[in-house]
Amino acid sequence: MESITTKAIASALGGIKSAIDIATKLSEVSDAIKQADLKLQLAELVEKLADAKIQLSKVKIELNDKDEEISDLKQLLKQNAELKFNENYGLYEAEKDGKTVRYCTKCHAEGKLIPVQETASRFECKRCDQTYRRPEYVPQTRVIRGG
Ligand SMILES: [Zn+2]
Repeated sequence: MESITTKAIASALGGIKSAIDIATKLSEVSDAIKQADLKLQLAELVEKLADAKIQLSKVKIELNDKDEEISDLKQLLKQNAELKFNENYGLYEAEKDGKTVRYCTKCHAEGKLIPVQETASRFECKRCDQTYRRPEYVPQTRVIRGG
């Protein structure tokens, strides 16, 4: 499949080639070419160069996006290498600044690293609403005081 970048480069190169052709014609200008033709050719030249500029701007934006995507993926790879699966909680975890940070397993499967919120009885993901039970949690039985 042809990417936007490839198409934009081809289009920009085509535009630049046309601009060079026009410039070449203009440099060979003779008395035979009237001033009106010259103006028309110049307008076309400017238009072709403007098109090429737009196409190259698109390439620049797309390359920027790709750089960001690569940077994000590198970050994710690095984080994945540091992740350990905690079977007790069914969560991924990693040491960060001396603390254990736990991540949602469901979101991890979608390539997202989302830290879970910790409560007394469970862990909760604010992104996907998934909850993870804490087996060590023992509900407090209410003491009913007799009269
Ligand atoms: Zn989640």
